Amino acid sequence: MEKLLQGLIKFRKNDFEVHRELFGKLSRSQNPHTLFIGCSDSRLVPNLITQTLPGELFVIRNIANIVPPYRNTQEYLATTAAIEYAVNVLEVQNIIVCGHSNCGGCKSLYSPDEELDTIPHTKKWLELAGNVKNRVLAEVTEDEKGKREWMTEQINVVEQLKHLLTYPFIRDKYTQQTLTIDGWYYIIETGEVYIYNKQNGVFELAN
Ligand SMILES: [Zn+2]
Repeated sequence: MEKLLQGLIKFRKNDFEVHRELFGKLSRSQNPHTLFIGCSDSRLVPNLITQTLPGELFVIRNIANIVPPYRNTQEYLATTAAIEYAVNVLEVQNIIVCGHSNCGGCKSLYSPDEELDTIPHTKKWLELAGNVKNRVLAEVTEDEKGKREWMTEQINVVEQLKHLLTYPFIRDKYTQQTLTIDGWYYIIETGEVYIYNKQNGVFELAN
């Protein structure tokens, strides 16, 4: 905790001062250009990898960067509400779903049921990526663990892009080309981001 408190003071003295004018401009409104949907993993830092400033990214993070398929319901839906707000109120121009290497959420898809019994809400949440597991298992064998890992993480990103298009207001804007939708895959140990090419279905290095 001490580290965090020191950080607050250091931030105000240094980084805040550097961007004082920007924070002043942002004090009454935000106009982010991009909705960034990423995993909650501590090693993925959206503003750092995109070199963006406060006010640019509207960020949603959850386990395994999942987009629940659209449904009209009276439940409390944090991810769905944030997507709705970003697209319909803030009118972002881009949506990015960003997965990453060594994703614990994606790995848990293969955990034995009893291992997940102590984290029932996580287990339930990961059901939303159930299709991903089935698709991967149809293509890799049991001994190809490394391949299984990155395939799961990448196919999960593609699956969530599909889920985005189940939202009527997203589908409309995407069809009218007023909203872009992209899938990214971030590699923790190299800092590389691979971008999903919708034409050939391959993740290609951003450079
Ligand atoms: Zn993750």
